[in-house]
Amino acid sequence: MFESDCIFCKIIQKKVSAKIIKESEYSLVIEDMSPKAPIHYLILPKKHIININYLSDKDSKYAADMIKIARNIAQEIKEEKGLKEPLSFNLISNNGIQASQSVFHMHFHFIAGKNIYIDGFQL
Ligand SMILES: [Zn+2]
Repeated sequence: MFESDCIFCKIIQKKVSAKIIKESEYSLVIEDMSPKAPIHYLILPKKHIININYLSDKDSKYAADMIKIARNIAQEIKEEKGLKEPLSFNLISNNGIQASQSVFHMHFHFIAGKNIYIDGFQL
């Protein structure tokens, strides 16, 4: 379930502190320690899965919940800001060293408030 040397597993188990934004049975959402956009959260499955390449069919509930919690966060921000349209945001997942994955516990970057394709961006 968890790896003892994984920083995200430690955060999920509350052994290391992080700013928690939201939590569900299968996911934890924290603020990125070095945000690259006005809103930059990390969505983590509550199971040590290295990346999408290692996601088994029986773990699909984790992936589904990560997307569901992203939708819920977007909805909450929309309501909080009184937006008329749904929030524009990016969900980014780096899978493997060549794709710049740095923490080997599957995660999505939830990014809003910046158009990464126009403004430039590096995770
Ligand atoms: Zn982990």
